[in-house]
Amino acid sequence: MISIGLFLYDHLSKRVSLPGSKRIRFAADSHLQAKFKHGFEYSDCRVDDARLVVMNAKLAEQKGAAILTRCQVTGAKRHKGIWLISAKTPEGDVSTFKAKTLVNAAGPWVSQVIAQIPEVSHKHRLRLVKGSHLLVPRIHDDPAAYILQNDDGRVVFIIPYLDDYSLIGTTDVDYAGDPRTAEIDDAEIDYLIKVTTDYFPCSLTREAIVWTFSGVRPLMQGEHEASKSATKITRDYQLELDLQANQAPLLSVFGGKLTTYRKLAETVINKLQPYLPPMAEAWTASAILPGGEGVSSPHAYAQELTKHYPFLDQQQARRLAFTYGRQCEIWLAGAASLTDLGLRYGDLFEREVKYLIDEEWAQSCEDIIWRRTKVGISLSETDTQSLERFVKTYRKG
Ligand SMILES: Cc1cc2nc3c(=O)[nH]c(=O)nc-3n(C[C@H](O)[C@H](O)[C@H](O)COP(=O)(O)OP(=O)(O)OC[C@H]3O[C@@H](n4cnc5c(N)ncnc54)[C@H](O)[C@@H]3O)c2cc1C
Repeated sequence: MISIGLFLYDHLSKRVSLPGSKRIRFAADSHLQAKFKHGFEYSDCRVDDARLVVMNAKLAEQKGAAILTRCQVTGAKRHKGIWLISAKTPEGDVSTFKAKTLVNAAGPWVSQVIAQIPEVSHKHRLRLVKGSHLLVPRIHDDPAAYILQNDDGRVVFIIPYLDDYSLIGTTDVDYAGDPRTAEIDDAEIDYLIKVTTDYFPCSLTREAIVWTFSGVRPLMQGEHEASKSATKITRDYQLELDLQANQAPLLSVFGGKLTTYRKLAETVINKLQPYLPPMAEAWTASAILPGGEGVSSPHAYAQELTKHYPFLDQQQARRLAFTYGRQCEIWLAGAASLTDLGLRYGDLFEREVKYLIDEEWAQSCEDIIWRRTKVGISLSETDTQSLERFVKTYRKG
């Protein structure tokens, strides 16, 4: 079954840079429990989802978009062929925006946004499914990620993360609460530890957990799928267009995956094309996001950084290459020593923090250490407090 899946994976889409899959025999000194003799190897890509979002926003801004973070849509109504959209700023002010079309891409909140527009109803239904992850000290020193097949038919990933850690996930748990406050529960922790220790001869315990995080998948539920297990619900998406005669359209996105986000976005624009002024040819399929210009791999770029900025050690260069790509040169420019980069907050540099506030919409210490970077994993309490004070003062000034 796995061989057939991998054959299709290798042959159905055009492979450009990734090697094909193969069956492998584990050596006697492999990292796995001795009972595992065979496996399969294939190649895939990885992405930091938070940075993917911010770099898409950055590119959109460069193309003329206005990016308003932490601005919550509270209602919308149609008026003389356009939308009048009310949105609340973090300060609590409500502004009204005018638009020829409205796209509701609120992920797990898509139905809540529709509920704020009285004249619109929707036929697609979402099923909210929580997925949780554990971060633990590195379980093995193999650079490869492992996909472990569990008895329940699910797979669990063990992914090398930030040099020193292994990221273990995920789970599929039906969820009814506020997606913003989703967190891992005891059963999920036990499950992830059990699958890991079934495969790896390590004594992983709760005490070893460095960090956990959870997210809520907005999955599309078909008419007769209410009783299906959460794992089996499709990861595909549906677009629902709400049209009224001579009125501005609303397009809502149900479901989706990171891997198909460009395809999804292009399909959205194609559907809205009749209601918008004429557009140029689609160009986003192969567009390079800011920081990726001329970067063949983050490893190669880290080497380039240490040549141009010899005061950076290998670890610092690797962190900057993986986090920012060439965007880090915006704030490294002209620096000849670490001192030129200003104060330090753990791994973070003062110039880096200012860049994140000035250019990447960071508003709080939490934005900086968890959403724009992941330095929160190793940042001490004292450095976190100093950074909080710095962010407040810098933003006021
Ligand atoms: C645990 C887990 C694992 C996953 N693994 C993978 C994977 O391996 N591969 C993959 O391709 N995909 C994966 N996904 C799916 C992927 O994360 C989602 O498909 C993707 O995040 C959807 O993006 P989105 O922009 O549609 O929604 P979201 O990322 O949820 O963004 C919706 C945004 O709308 C905002 N919003 C909500 N209400 C309002 C409002 N009233 N006004 C203004 N803004 C509002 C929210 O604040 C949020 O920023 C995973 C998801 C989870 C939860």
